[in-house]
Amino acid sequence: MLSLGAGIQSSALLALSAEGILPKVDYAIFADTGWEPKAVYSHLDRLENQIAEPAGIPILRVSSGNIRADALDPDHRFASMPLYVLNKDGRPGMTRRQCTGEYKIKPIKKKVREILGYPYPQRIPKGVFVEQWIGISTDEFHRAKDADVRYMRNVHPLIDMDWSRGDCHRYLTSLGLADTPKSSCLGCPFHGNAQWRQIRDTSPDEWQDVVEFDAAIRQGNARANATGNKLLGQAFLHRSRVPLDKAPIDHVTAAEQAALQDEPADANELENGVVDGCSPWACRGEVDELAQGDFGLAS
Ligand code: SF4
Repeated sequence: MLSLGAGIQSSALLALSAEGILPKVDYAIFADTGWEPKAVYSHLDRLENQIAEPAGIPILRVSSGNIRADALDPDHRFASMPLYVLNKDGRPGMTRRQCTGEYKIKPIKKKVREILGYPYPQRIPKGVFVEQWIGISTDEFHRAKDADVRYMRNVHPLIDMDWSRGDCHRYLTSLGLADTPKSSCLGCPFHGNAQWRQIRDTSPDEWQDVVEFDAAIRQGNARANATGNKLLGQAFLHRSRVPLDKAPIDHVTAAEQAALQDEPADANELENGVVDGCSPWACRGEVDELAQGDFGLAS
């Protein structure tokens, strides 16, 4: 099976498999957080209609819920997003990132168990497993890891092929998929300035959506507040810890500047080291999270 994040690398893997350059996967699984940008859902439909279906590869869409709605629902247990926090004493922090596990990894594991015939909590016999393709390219080989469960064995065909992200992009371009978007939640706090600007400048509805969400989580997520576990400070989507509609997103960072001079198409991604959105098994946001420091100030 292919873990389809629907970004550059996993889209390339799907196409390589569909075209017979790599063996055919039995299915691809896309974990939907319910709050991907419209462009990602359109891209996914396109992958399905133009590439997967003609090759007989089913795309299974799985979900644990809607991350946006859950964050604002006081009655719903919420796996927190990595929000930037300004504590009462002025110290910066971040809430813990639990969302990737809850909204991406958990539903994939659930589906894999179903497919293997051992739904949770049944014990899966030793030796029963799926081979899971993960879209990690040579430029980020350090993210390649073994699965944390015995019934999934990770393989990394792009690394075996010695393909970089650029190789994937060139290949997708040859298939008419040059505009493959990054897959990550619309309001993911790991977005860099270029990505926030892109939303603001190209999709007013989605910009309004993220600005409203940013204002709504200022006191932390709704469930934590409802259960008396209040955030002792304020939470923000933008790393400046300023409301998103006032945040300095027009500031071009040094990394973005360097990337613009080098390869304009990659400026968005290189700005923060967030290369290809949030992949279930290799969340690129980790780079940013580590750079910012996780102060463990959970809501
Ligand atoms: S894209 Fe961001 S908010 Fe969404 S699951 Fe990944 S880390 Fe969490």
